[in-house]
Amino acid sequence: IELANQIAAGEVIERPASVAKELLENSLDAGATKLHIDIEQGGRRRILVRDNGAGIPKDELALALSRHATSKISSLADLEAIMSLGFRGEALASISSVARLLLTSKTAEQQAAWQAWVEGRDMQPKLAPASHPTGTSVDVQDLFFNTPARRKFLRTDKTEFGHIDELIRRLALVHHQVEWRLTHNGKSIRHYPPASAPQQRQQRLAKICGQVFAERALEVDHGIADLRLQGWIAPAAECRYQGDVQYMYVNGRMMRDRLLQHAVRQAYGEQLQQLGESERVPTYVLYLELPANEVDVNVHPAKHEVRFHQARHVHDFVLAALREVLQQQAP
Ligand code: ADP
Ligand code: MG
Repeated sequence: IELANQIAAGEVIERPASVAKELLENSLDAGATKLHIDIEQGGRRRILVRDNGAGIPKDELALALSRHATSKISSLADLEAIMSLGFRGEALASISSVARLLLTSKTAEQQAAWQAWVEGRDMQPKLAPASHPTGTSVDVQDLFFNTPARRKFLRTDKTEFGHIDELIRRLALVHHQVEWRLTHNGKSIRHYPPASAPQQRQQRLAKICGQVFAERALEVDHGIADLRLQGWIAPAAECRYQGDVQYMYVNGRMMRDRLLQHAVRQAYGEQLQQLGESERVPTYVLYLELPANEVDVNVHPAKHEVRFHQARHVHDFVLAALREVLQQQAP
């Protein structure tokens, strides 16, 4: 069982940021509005995520740490089949197999909190009473302590922490209602207050993408039938902003989709040509919404790819919307 878990973990858990991603997605699924992320030594020593979400009932705690499909991995063919589908419902079990994980939780209905962890080879979860407000904490320590080969692939603390920081920027840019706090080695690094109102959103945008981008970027808000594109794109003439601001979300999930990137580059390229500028990289934060049945996400759990059923249609919609916005700065 442990081996199967470690194989599963290898697929999804390659570095501290992958752990953080799984934990934060669980917290968001649980409706959390406050998230504390405490990192030690780039995450290799500790990744602690605390949320104020719905919590996990006592009788489901042990289950949350168990793999649902362990017995299915009996042959290489099975393994391949599962890999192509992605490992779902198994993140906590996978993390438990490559780190020391302590899960503590309380639901609003419960009087007391409980915690669960696995130890030893049998992976049988243990349970004990604990102290915790309503919500969940997942404390992940000593990542890859039992898989030295993986541990060797980790980069410097600074690099690993950078990946976590970037993950939180991406999530904070779309989960505006959530308050985010990130610390590293006990030091506060980021604080994004809740941003439901447009003005607060603008402030969060400035914090994450830079003041210049927040002030100068053109606003996008286009809809045709059941397609909608919102967000910000920098005017082509002044696209030198801090860092790499290229964020594209599809139905609330961060994606790196070639088709969408192509549409953005094309609209941008046309503008640059009109302005007589040489090639530059576009800068944008865009949110595309379309009916869930028009798109397949999770083609691969660790990659940010998406498949549109009407790819050409979506591409042309994005292109047309951005053309129109960028026209505002035409000479
Ligand atoms: P999945 O999210 O794919 O179901 P996970 O292994 O990530 O699988 O989590 C297992 C289960 O544990 C979840 O389905 C959920 O019920 C519960 N869970 C995990 N983290 C949290 C959390 N922060 N708040 C509430 N429930 C959680
Ligand atoms: Mg999950």
